[in-house]
Amino acid sequence: MNLHGKTALVTGSTSGIGLGIAQVLAKAGANIILNGFGDIEAAKDRVAQYGTTPGYHGADLSDETQIVDMMRYAQSEFGGVDILINNAGIQHVSPVETFPVEKWNAIIAINLSSVFHTTRLALPGMRERNWGRIINIASVHGLVASKEKSAYVAAKHGVVGLTKTTALETAQSGVTCNALCPGWVLTPLVQQQIDKRIADGAAPESARDALLAEKQPSREFVTPEQLGELTLFLCSEGAAQVRGVAWNMDGGWVAQ
Ligand code: NAD
Repeated sequence: MNLHGKTALVTGSTSGIGLGIAQVLAKAGANIILNGFGDIEAAKDRVAQYGTTPGYHGADLSDETQIVDMMRYAQSEFGGVDILINNAGIQHVSPVETFPVEKWNAIIAINLSSVFHTTRLALPGMRERNWGRIINIASVHGLVASKEKSAYVAAKHGVVGLTKTTALETAQSGVTCNALCPGWVLTPLVQQQIDKRIADGAAPESARDALLAEKQPSREFVTPEQLGELTLFLCSEGAAQVRGVAWNMDGGWVAQ
């Protein structure tokens, strides 16, 4: 797989799944634009080991104007975005009656509305070049629900719906749009949930095992690298007619 000359913008790529996907795309030769918070230098180093100097834009994806700035940066520094990985996401766990309204708004803004904004802003350039790949990192929660994650489940179902609509609107072009729906991946986002169980009295090993046992028949975590490999396939010419598919990679979660 050779992605030389292509530019990939990966949102939320300073840790976890986004950083894993950015590394796989960099290894295949793509230029990378990173986004997200935290240890930005460490993320840049992880990508730079594949011989590319990544760009970075720290847009807060809950703010439309910052997304517009990020897309302008991609245009001026890299000539546009060929591969758009909409990955950034946050979670909150709480029953629907007591779900804090400000958390609802934040989750919908970051997990769903940001995907609409980056997509609408990246598409004109992709259409002009008649080549593009939009890959939205949804979740198994874009396909099935779990209790106490109303905003997350609603946002991820929305991402799957937006993926299908974008795929239909680009069907007669060289632009494709698909979604990945991971099960549990051991990233900071999931570690928070394990830490909560430990704080509630579970032993560290059993907190991890219990999380897997409840939902993921393989009892193994999916890895960011495995998601990166599926992303790479979707970027290939072999996947040029794969359109509007929500790919679950979940150790059997939604097969139950
Ligand atoms: P993570 O917490 O490790 O990484 C999230 C990234 O998003 C970080 O780079 C963070 O800085 C960035 N981010 C958060 N808020 C942001 C904002 N307002 N603006 C810009 N960047 C922001 O999480 P992860 O587990 O790697 O999750 C990545 C994506 O995968 C999310 O959309 C998540 O819903 C999805 N997902 C994760 C799992 C899992 O088990 N980890 C499963 C299914 C889906």
